Amino acid sequence: MRSPLDDRMESEPPGSGGITYAVSRDNSPDVDAQLRLLIDSVRDYAILTLDLEGHVSSWNAGAERIKGYRAEEILGQHFSRFYPPDDVARGKPQAELELVRREGRFEEEGWRLRKDGSRFWASVVITALRDTQGVMRGFGKVTRDFTERKLAQERLLQSEERFRLLVESIQDYAIYMLDPEGRVTTWNAGAERIKNYRAEEILGQHFSRFYPPEDVARNKPQRALQQAAEEGRFEEEAWRIRKDGTRFWASVIITALYDPQGTLRGFAKVTRDFTQHKQTQERRELEMLRDAVLARDEFLSVASHELKTPLTPLQLKLTSLLRVVEGHPEATLPVGRLARDLDVARRQVRKLADLIEDLLDVSRISMGQLRLDRTPIDLTALAREVVTRYTPQAVQAGSTVELEAPAPIPGNWDRGRMEQVLTNLLTNALKYGAGKPIRVRVRMDSGLALLTVQDEGIGIAPEKQPRVFERFVRAVSERNYGGLGLGLFITQQIVEAHGGIVQVRSTLGQGSSFTVLLPPGLTPKED
Ligand code: ADP
Repeated sequence: MRSPLDDRMESEPPGSGGITYAVSRDNSPDVDAQLRLLIDSVRDYAILTLDLEGHVSSWNAGAERIKGYRAEEILGQHFSRFYPPDDVARGKPQAELELVRREGRFEEEGWRLRKDGSRFWASVVITALRDTQGVMRGFGKVTRDFTERKLAQERLLQSEERFRLLVESIQDYAIYMLDPEGRVTTWNAGAERIKNYRAEEILGQHFSRFYPPEDVARNKPQRALQQAAEEGRFEEEAWRIRKDGTRFWASVIITALYDPQGTLRGFAKVTRDFTQHKQTQERRELEMLRDAVLARDEFLSVASHELKTPLTPLQLKLTSLLRVVEGHPEATLPVGRLARDLDVARRQVRKLADLIEDLLDVSRISMGQLRLDRTPIDLTALAREVVTRYTPQAVQAGSTVELEAPAPIPGNWDRGRMEQVLTNLLTNALKYGAGKPIRVRVRMDSGLALLTVQDEGIGIAPEKQPRVFERFVRAVSERNYGGLGLGLFITQQIVEAHGGIVQVRSTLGQGSSFTVLLPPGLTPKED
């Protein structure tokens, strides 16, 4: 195979365009052969030479791989056979050689043909080959197969186009772009639907026209862009203005767009019309407010009823005591009856005091003033004390209370508050499980103190269980059972203030079990 590289040149190349053979006569045949070998063996580039008319005069392995011809098939053939027929018809191959003759070099990307007729996307450089006298001897041609790259680019373009079409057609979101100064540069169907401007009306306009005048006066649009530029993103829900001047409640996200060099290119803006959403939300808030007012009225009626209940027997007993005292000379007072009446009166006063104490606790809790006074105590001893104190009530309710507390359970807890927890759970069990056995268990498990109060009473319906710890919530009718619906709320607040939890397990008609899990607490010094 003969190639222009075979021509040995003597001196330096002149400054004319194209390649001059720099292989000197002094080059050893070895260097020459090495160069030939190198070119021949390159597989990623088709490297070939053409004579002055455009006939192939040398052919390397890369050319064979890319174009599919073996050297003996193509040497001497005109290079125009690599071009698609329409290019040949337009005289493109000749025109390119002409250009190289004039300017020394030609470069392009375009479709070329393989031997089997298939097309490939070629990156082509054609160079004039001149000898040292500046006389043209032929052309060097280097071709790369960029089909894969071209297809990838096209796929990317197609996907960008698809994405653009998708964005344009989205109806629920106004999606558009702003230039760095805040002028609208793109507009989609959603933007038209929400803001009512057609693209041709709004492109190039400043986006501040979507803001209410008072926001514009406060420079809000500019500040939004500034924040987006500084922090990458700006987000808000606020009023915006449609073309006809009406307001809508908008959820807005502005994202700053930077190029790889870090220059601010503009902003992407996504806006949703949340007017309906806001109206629903406002309606819901109104409903919640109404519910709260209703709950308060209901509570006031229950509370006044509850506070009044002990007063009637108290008044009766006091009146009867007064009559007894007035009607008897000192020596003949019926002491036994007086003592019984006084006991009833004292219990009613205590009941009133407890109710008022509960109300005070609720207001303390809602003002964040529930303070714990932790001291080292034994939960077992405390449980025994409370159970013993309530034995008379248990007898009255027809229930037995079994205490299972085999070992001391020491911890740092607020004694008075823990007593309140035990009392609330036990009195509930006596109230809602009257006539049935009650079991109180105190034990340690996995480093936690566990207190369980279990009854076999009326139980709680599954749908009501999650709410029994809420304030004022009662799962029974006030006609059947008294109570303010505060005991469990206060219990939970106390337990949680100690870092613990309280949970309920219950089956309607079969009974309930309330369990308190308490961490032992820090020593008072560390607390
Ligand atoms: P109340 O003063 O109404 O007893 P609580 O806060 O102590 O208030 O309890 C809230 C509601 O939980 C009660 O109204 C009742 O419906 C239900 N409840 C509490 N303890 C029990 C229990 N041991 N068995 C059945 N229901 C219970």
